[in-house]
Amino acid sequence: MLIVKKFGGSSVADKDRIYNVARRCIEEYEKGNEVVVVLSAMGKTTDGLIAKAREINPNPPKREMDMLLATGEQTSVALMSMAMSALGVPAVSLNAAQVAMHTTSAYGMAKLKRIDTERIRHELDARKIVIITGFQGINKYDDITTLGRGGSDTTAVALAAALHADACEIYTDVDGVYTADPRIVPNARKLAEVSYDEMLEFASLGAKVLHNRSVEMAKRYGVQLVVLSSLTRAEGTIIKEETKVERMLVSGVAADKNVARISVIGVKNEPGIAFKIFNLLARHHINVDIIIQSIGREERKDISFTVARTDLQEAMTLLNENREVLTAQTIACEEGVAKISIIGAGMTSNPGVAAKMFESLYSANVNIKMIATSEIRITVLIAEEDVNRAMRTVHDAFDLAD
Ligand code: ASP
Ligand code: MG
Repeated sequence: MLIVKKFGGSSVADKDRIYNVARRCIEEYEKGNEVVVVLSAMGKTTDGLIAKAREINPNPPKREMDMLLATGEQTSVALMSMAMSALGVPAVSLNAAQVAMHTTSAYGMAKLKRIDTERIRHELDARKIVIITGFQGINKYDDITTLGRGGSDTTAVALAAALHADACEIYTDVDGVYTADPRIVPNARKLAEVSYDEMLEFASLGAKVLHNRSVEMAKRYGVQLVVLSSLTRAEGTIIKEETKVERMLVSGVAADKNVARISVIGVKNEPGIAFKIFNLLARHHINVDIIIQSIGREERKDISFTVARTDLQEAMTLLNENREVLTAQTIACEEGVAKISIIGAGMTSNPGVAAKMFESLYSANVNIKMIATSEIRITVLIAEEDVNRAMRTVHDAFDLAD
């Protein structure tokens, strides 16, 4: 078997953890498997490097930023190879240029285009464990690029696809995907399996287990993933196309507090207004989520929507600057809101799921401000102060606990 094993920063944070990972990889190797290891930078190294750069120059050139950040992963792979060597197992570390992993040119947000596999194959054939830097690539200028924060997951999935790996294991500091955040819902249960689409919904709601693009890529190339912990032997969560035949109605509840609501009030009730508002925001890369348009009254209507709270300032400035073009009477915003969502691939074919969610919120006296649905998700916007209580109530209503 060819196995790709990816370890996050916390799994290689210090000497003991590095040796722990080295031993686990060697275990697989000694069973006769081919082992490719993808590593993140140790612990909080990437944050530290970003802080260092800002000390020198608050607005560093993007190319130099990637040059700097890539050193974090390069440190990890070299040390890992040394640990394996100390344990008497042949290993070799490779960075993105040595592999090579080709990406688009955009520094800080490059996308993988193609991975050359000859060098890796050659090292595997020589019975070495191959340890590869996550998160980085090279572009057409032979410059180092990075894939965006958390990008090592995507490196691992891309390598698994390119090498036609038999397994792709993503080790993190959580041991799988849960029905809800266990810090908020103590009786949350670990899921044995989730589908790619469910995982994408979990991730887009801030359940930061995997880099979103890694899941998209896994879905596209049919790479089955397992998320598990490097510190325990517990079984993880499998992420794949089809989950069990008896699909769970609802697989989990997720919350997102990085939300704010904007209301563009009293715009003219005529064609093109929604286009103008959302085009303006899209041009500035501001993502909009739940959208509600009121029924028109006296030639006027209101359009409300949510944005990430981190984008609120910029969105409000843009909208206010364009208030006249948008024909708005006032533009208001609200910050103390949060989204909670239920996610489940079984939802599509079962009526009454939404009603059940709303009933449980009603019973907990939680007011719903906005509602949005997709095929496998129902999201409500509520007051932020209600969010933890609402999570527990909804989690109970769908019997998600152990
Ligand atoms: N070290 C990079 C980061 O912290 C990439 C990764 O960990 O996946 O974002
Ligand atoms: Mg990560």
